[in-house]
Amino acid sequence: MNLYNTLSRKKERFSAPDGEVKMYVCGATPYSAAHLGNAMPSIVFDVLRRYLEFKGYRVRHVQNFTDIDDKMIQAAAERQISTTELAEANAAAYLDEMDALNILRAHKYPRATGDIPKIVEMIDGLVKQGFAYSVNGDVYFRVRRDKDYGKLSHRNLDSLKAGARVEVDENKEDPLDFALWKSQKPGEPAWDSPWGPGRPGWHIECSAMSLAYLGETLDIHGGGRDLIFPHHENEIAQTESFTNKTPFVRFWVHNGTLQMNEDKMSKSLGNIISAREAIQRFSPNAIRLFFLGSHYRSPLAYSEESVASQDRAAERLRNALRPAADKTGETIDATPYRDQFIDAMDDDLNTPRALASLFDLAREINRRRDGGGDVGAAQEVLRELAGILGLTLEEPAARSDDIAPFVRLLVDLRSELREAKQFTLADKVRDDLAGLGVSLEDGPEGTVWRLHSD
Ligand SMILES: [Zn+2]
Repeated sequence: MNLYNTLSRKKERFSAPDGEVKMYVCGATPYSAAHLGNAMPSIVFDVLRRYLEFKGYRVRHVQNFTDIDDKMIQAAAERQISTTELAEANAAAYLDEMDALNILRAHKYPRATGDIPKIVEMIDGLVKQGFAYSVNGDVYFRVRRDKDYGKLSHRNLDSLKAGARVEVDENKEDPLDFALWKSQKPGEPAWDSPWGPGRPGWHIECSAMSLAYLGETLDIHGGGRDLIFPHHENEIAQTESFTNKTPFVRFWVHNGTLQMNEDKMSKSLGNIISAREAIQRFSPNAIRLFFLGSHYRSPLAYSEESVASQDRAAERLRNALRPAADKTGETIDATPYRDQFIDAMDDDLNTPRALASLFDLAREINRRRDGGGDVGAAQEVLRELAGILGLTLEEPAARSDDIAPFVRLLVDLRSELREAKQFTLADKVRDDLAGLGVSLEDGPEGTVWRLHSD
């Protein structure tokens, strides 16, 4: 397949010679609940992983939690709990929400505070090689020592310097230098290091953990495009300086961000819809279709209507899986649709085009089934392709449980109507329920109900 590489600014042919894809995706800073914008990279890299697995690769997916930084410290202090308690509560909620969106779990979710010795070892190596220096308990990366700094974000040092905020920090040799280790301030959590108690900077944790869990060369490093600079630029500088090997990452893959009222959806701007609220309001398929209906590298504008309308689209796919009453007609050939789908996905994960083929196939199945065509094999293809996009077209198993209290309420109401000899109204309740797929059976023990699809 071809995949756009931010480093070369081109689509390049993707392959992994030994069949294993090492994929590192920058994860969340769990200082508060996840918002829907956080689900975008999760869904994009879930689909990339599913597609690579479909192509026969084994994907090893590692995604970190940044469980210590300024925002974590501040939020934990406000709630009077430890940063660990805060991180673990939000990480558990995040994983639940991603499960609800049918996102495959990463093979490993390292936490920065769980890997402090590895981080310290890497910083120490950078200091020994002259790429970093310590001052008063802090350690900084010496950006000008790195000859190709700026190659990912395509910036040069002079323009960076001109654009840099003039920070009053007499510790740094150069304003471009960035922190690898921050000395402890009063009341902050800290870990021991050769430079005194402190905590790691954000960038170094991803370099250290990707090295620890995936090795010196990654096949794919992913995240939102807002991470290209400085986070990913700094990761390259640290890792390539430490290992003395290039490239650290073969493919840099970045997704566009979710926009709300023309701004990036972000906690700091306060223009968010929480992931939990979205999951309660929309089906997982609708949320996935909303994200996949636009190319992953483009920014995507959130609106309630655009997500809600995807529920009807998901229903059309689901309808195409209804069994045929009569299969005496011709068998439909789903191959051209499958080929188009694969072509689209091979072209830098073009999910809008892949979805168009999927909907074309669904339309063809619905049309031909009504004419008595044998659609069984085509339905299998539909299921297979929908699975690559992480859509679940089977009726959710929990559906009976979800509606149970409401059906019970109507069943009881009907019994009361019958006792009051309001038979016309009682029959209307029964018939209307039947129209919604719920049938009632009156027996000696009272009335039992079931869903037709059960
Ligand atoms: Zn990262």
